[in-house]
Amino acid sequence: MKNCLILLVSITTLVNLPGLNLAQNSALFSRKVGQYTVTTLTESQGQGNKSLLIGTTPEILERYAPEGTFPNATHAYLVQSQGRNVLIDAGMGKLTTNLEAAKIKPEQIDGILLTHCHGDHIGGMMKNETAVFPNAHVYLSQKEYEYWKTSTRGDQARKVFEAYKDRLHIFEPATLGGSADPIIPGLKAFAAYGHTPGHIVYLLESGPEKLLIWGDLTHAMAVQMPCPQVALTYDVDPSEAIKSRKAVLEYVVKNKLPVAGMHIPLNGMGKVENDPATGGYRFTAF
Ligand SMILES: [Zn+2]
Repeated sequence: MKNCLILLVSITTLVNLPGLNLAQNSALFSRKVGQYTVTTLTESQGQGNKSLLIGTTPEILERYAPEGTFPNATHAYLVQSQGRNVLIDAGMGKLTTNLEAAKIKPEQIDGILLTHCHGDHIGGMMKNETAVFPNAHVYLSQKEYEYWKTSTRGDQARKVFEAYKDRLHIFEPATLGGSADPIIPGLKAFAAYGHTPGHIVYLLESGPEKLLIWGDLTHAMAVQMPCPQVALTYDVDPSEAIKSRKAVLEYVVKNKLPVAGMHIPLNGMGKVENDPATGGYRFTAF
């Protein structure tokens, strides 16, 4: 529990530094993906400190984080189609305020697809000891469930599992690039383990239109796009997280997939390309 608190405190420190708050100060950002509308539910914009990075060099820091910080944000995403409302992750606790801004009541949420179970992704699911979303079915990977079920830092996740136990769906994600059945209509799940043992990414598809929602594949876009080999102290297994990041980046470039991420600054969505100048990748926000 002590470690859990430390993690929560450090994530709060990461995201509460001065910055924009789009959710409070302007209209919510949405993007069409075929028949779906995807809305960014922003909880914070701020700066992360270079002390959170693993595997940097003085040259990397000087070039990509010269002030010793990097832009960061925290988002969840709302995916809507034909009267159905699905969340991808659930933020830290400002979720219901953001949903109000999107004119959605908690009882109108049909599903919550979790990338993983850190506090900044499941924090919005509980109010005190009660489930916030009375009708939402909750989906997460088998490995993620197994890990948090017994983890010494798993108190918050176990409360969520208990509160949603009658509508908790545990599944085995597909291998990236392999064939996959949708978890729910329009959304497929692929393993991208490492940040947590069962961390996954979701691919939203509607005809030819697609969006890969990559959870915590990155936390420091300014550094990890040019240098995907840089990990974060939040990664449970940094070397596996690096492998997953490299594989997903290669996959989205090869397939020209637009992406959304829970810690990508500003609107959280954009496109990724190879960047010959750095030998890594370049991200352009929508
Ligand atoms: Zn996170």
